[in-house]
Amino acid sequence: MRKMDGVTVIAPPAPTRPMAPTQAPPPRVAGRSRLRPTPLSGLDIWAFIIVNLVVITAMWVRHGGFDLWATPFGKLVGLGQITALYGSFFILAELVLIARVPWIERRYGMDRLLGWHRLTGFASVTLLSAHVLFTTLGYAVPRRVGAADQFGNFLLYWPNMVTATAGFLLILAVAVTSVRAARRSLSYETWHFIHLYAYLGVALAFAHQLTSGTDFASDHLAVVYWVSLNIATVVALVGFRWISPIWRALRHQLRVVAVETEAPGVVSIRVAGRKLHRLTAASGQFFIIRVLRGDRWWRAHPLSLSAAPDGRSLRFTVKALGDDSTWMQQIPVGTRIMAEGPYGAFHAEDDPIEKVLLIGGGIGITPLRAIFEDIDRRPGQVTLLYRARNHADAILLGELQEIADRRGFKLQVSQSRAGGRRKFDPFSAAALRRAVPDIARRSIYVCGPPELISAACNGAKRAGAHPKNLHYERFDY
Ligand SMILES: Cc1cc2nc3c(=O)[nH]c(=O)nc-3n(C[C@H](O)[C@H](O)[C@H](O)COP(=O)(O)OP(=O)(O)OC[C@H]3O[C@@H](n4cnc5c(N)ncnc54)[C@H](O)[C@@H]3O)c2cc1C
Repeated sequence: MRKMDGVTVIAPPAPTRPMAPTQAPPPRVAGRSRLRPTPLSGLDIWAFIIVNLVVITAMWVRHGGFDLWATPFGKLVGLGQITALYGSFFILAELVLIARVPWIERRYGMDRLLGWHRLTGFASVTLLSAHVLFTTLGYAVPRRVGAADQFGNFLLYWPNMVTATAGFLLILAVAVTSVRAARRSLSYETWHFIHLYAYLGVALAFAHQLTSGTDFASDHLAVVYWVSLNIATVVALVGFRWISPIWRALRHQLRVVAVETEAPGVVSIRVAGRKLHRLTAASGQFFIIRVLRGDRWWRAHPLSLSAAPDGRSLRFTVKALGDDSTWMQQIPVGTRIMAEGPYGAFHAEDDPIEKVLLIGGGIGITPLRAIFEDIDRRPGQVTLLYRARNHADAILLGELQEIADRRGFKLQVSQSRAGGRRKFDPFSAAALRRAVPDIARRSIYVCGPPELISAACNGAKRAGAHPKNLHYERFDY
């Protein structure tokens, strides 16, 4: 080990095994992305949402939404109507955002879409709660009855109200379990299972929208528009979350062909199958992996490619962090796998910036290892800062050193000075500028534990990096 300005540079061990020939990246045409370009521009999702909100507002006005404004109770009923329409629309938007539609996913990346999914989810639950409140009060006050009486009246005499109430309660339960504190106390599988009830909730509420919604009572055009939105959402969900993955599984017939221990609790799993050259995957992307065994197929886990895709096999490196990742440490060769994807916008395929900085730590080194291997850059243009708690923790180090030597890239591995007098922050602006003097002109890719991601991104911004040149991948949901 060498000590350098508060950073301990761990001398990489001699590579324990040479790179297998199958790991050689396919020939690249400089500057040309292997990923199919997405037809969407950055503003498309917003344009789609705004146009629909305008159409919905126009629909509400056309059906007398403003006429109700004359009386205080009418105002409540009018607000109840518009919040119902906006809330139902946001639920559909929320579902489309997680439908894994390739053009949308490739444009924005799954973590950004999940963030928007949470936002639209919050908006829809708030709006639908407001709808229940406004409508109940809007009918209760002129009838001089309590809110509970009025709600009972809805349940007894209005069509499809019982199913709509059940649907709303399911959606509410999903929202409550998605609040960060509640989510943390549930296992991923339990949380995901409860989440599936949202689909049932939406389906239960659908008939209520058409039969009780004044907007659809006599306007066929409005019915066609609303039904089309719902059908498009179902087609996107069924097509991209079910049919497409099943079709790809049948097409590629993936199986585990090799398992290699990288460190205690970390294995690399190589899978191979048919027609893998048809998979347009890029280094840095991830797949959602299912082990096709009777007791496991229903549990899916995102795993990043840890080697550049070569058209013949895919490699994933898995750290034992829970039940399934621990089981995968012993996965038998020959096990059938379903790999849904590739997903994610964490890749450097279309990145026009000449110099690149990769910052990784822990198991987050996996996508960076793949990018480091086949990124389309000349010697000297790529630096990888690898943060490891200690030498044993620095997985894939031998391979990274081999790539750095072969491609003329810089690899710097560091651990904080344990027990030192001065507390050293490797992601302070000064430390980053010292390690990478031209950091402000680089494109920066960060992957690792959440604290590493925020420390590295904040430090890089303070060191002059432009926020739009910062890319990161989180390994949580
Ligand atoms: C985009 C992405 C890429 C990833 N790449 C890798 C990788 O290359 N190597 C690696 O070892 N790990 C990777 N992970 C993390 C990996 O998915 C989890 O460690 C794994 O799913 C844990 O499953 P488990 O049953 O062993 O543990 P559990 O006990 O079920 O979960 C442990 C933690 O893993 C996370 N997790 C579990 N299931 C999922 C899921 N389906 N989706 C998202 N998060 C989940 C949760 O934060 C949970 O708290 C990645 C995660 C994401 C989101």
